[in-house]
Amino acid sequence: MSDLYLKFVNTPVGKTAAQSLGLPAPIPLNRLRRPDQPFIEGDVLVGAGNGAKAIATLGGILNASAATVHHASGIDSLVDSAKAGNKAKALELDADDKPTFSGLVFDATGLKTPDDLRALYDFFHPTIKKLGRNARVVVVGQNPSTCRKAPQAAAQQALEGFVRSVGKEIGKKGSTANLVWMAPGAEKQLDSTLRFFLSPRSAYVSGQVVRIGKSTAAPTTNPVAPLTGKVALVTGASRGIGAAIAGTLARDGATVIGLDIPPAMAELEKVTDAINGKALACDITDKAAPKLIADFVQQHFDGIDLVIHNAGITRDKTLGNMPEHFWDMTIAVNLSAEELIDEELMHRELMRENGRIVCISSISGIAGNFGQTNYSTAKSGVIGYVEALAKQLKNGVTINAIAPGFIETQMTAAMPITIREAGRRMNSLSQGGLPIDVAEAIAWYCSPGSNGVNGNVVRVCGQSLIGK
Ligand code: NAD
Repeated sequence: MSDLYLKFVNTPVGKTAAQSLGLPAPIPLNRLRRPDQPFIEGDVLVGAGNGAKAIATLGGILNASAATVHHASGIDSLVDSAKAGNKAKALELDADDKPTFSGLVFDATGLKTPDDLRALYDFFHPTIKKLGRNARVVVVGQNPSTCRKAPQAAAQQALEGFVRSVGKEIGKKGSTANLVWMAPGAEKQLDSTLRFFLSPRSAYVSGQVVRIGKSTAAPTTNPVAPLTGKVALVTGASRGIGAAIAGTLARDGATVIGLDIPPAMAELEKVTDAINGKALACDITDKAAPKLIADFVQQHFDGIDLVIHNAGITRDKTLGNMPEHFWDMTIAVNLSAEELIDEELMHRELMRENGRIVCISSISGIAGNFGQTNYSTAKSGVIGYVEALAKQLKNGVTINAIAPGFIETQMTAAMPITIREAGRRMNSLSQGGLPIDVAEAIAWYCSPGSNGVNGNVVRVCGQSLIGK
């Protein structure tokens, strides 16, 4: 499952060979080394267009990092913010001795007309070439659906094209670009999302748009173990992405119930024993599964905070050649089971206040895939389910989805080599993701500070060229 090409092109011989043949030269991604690691280090430059609404909040969040925070000069609100922050320094954008930046953060919430978009050029044109390896670009805007005037909605929507293009330009350095669209007044909800997108936790997330709504929830008080006291259910936890999710949520303080089919019990117990969790043998497509799961939760914990629907299968065949059990099983595991389990947990009032439901979709569910009509149908259905339920949930419970691209697991190791290589390279970072990349994104959704993050579908795909 290891990516030998990535290793080879990062040797002196491999580098030269890739250059002379014009082949992609992916850079190893910086991932989190320790849970207490600062979310960003190095030099970060913060800028804003006129009328920016989140700049003071952004400055405050960054001042809690280990970075040296610079503010682009020439904009009044920035200078005020620079004065307010202890670490902030005003920086002349045209100075020759600009540092190499580990992050560029731009507050675009004040952009009201297409002419205002010039502020993006003014900030990024002189700085983008000074972006280091594995760096982060984050733009914060206002959700266009909350803009009352059409020119403002146009300017805010334009940020999506800008950020997605920047991601494609900086991916070859292992760097990422993402956009956060706030609802008006949602500044207090920015903290967990900004920390995630600036940190090594989001190494394989690029070209994404996250919508943050207003919410009354308390911010994260324990950034090192934010899930302390929470109980999590992770389906399909014996291997691959599910095992990484279980480990990551436990690392962040949660007690984990790992679930998998009975034949996977030995593997599952290895995972749960290592994190002091509990193992539950269950086929989620069994009629009795929702009740079995709810009974287990009630008996051991009296309630559940985090439900992660990770279990999934593929049964690939072109539609005309697909046996009906391939269709039925794929829809049942990847879609129907999730809904039935949630229904039972909510009906029995086992889902706790400020709980989290996370579903796993796929880029196949966004773009479709040859030979995967069943899987793509199910994974598209997951998105519909998440978007609809997000509007109905109460008590601070949120639901979001992750759509992984090519992740190095047993599922993708089983692909023919040509398809596997194409999957690895056809993204801005020219490499596959790791299970931990999906797990870190789920941990961000689960963080107590993410109450304003609801109804989102975020791709963990290195900005795959496939789909939107
Ligand atoms: P995997 O095959 O390695 O693991 C899936 C796990 O789900 C296994 O442990 C399996 O036993 C369990 N499972 C399957 N059917 C079950 C059932 N009926 N009841 C209980 N458990 C069941 O897969 P993975 O690559 O780790 O994928 C995890 C999730 O991510 C899946 O939903 C998959 O569709 C999705 N995904 C993966 C990729 C990728 O590149 N690996 C890409 C997109 C989406």
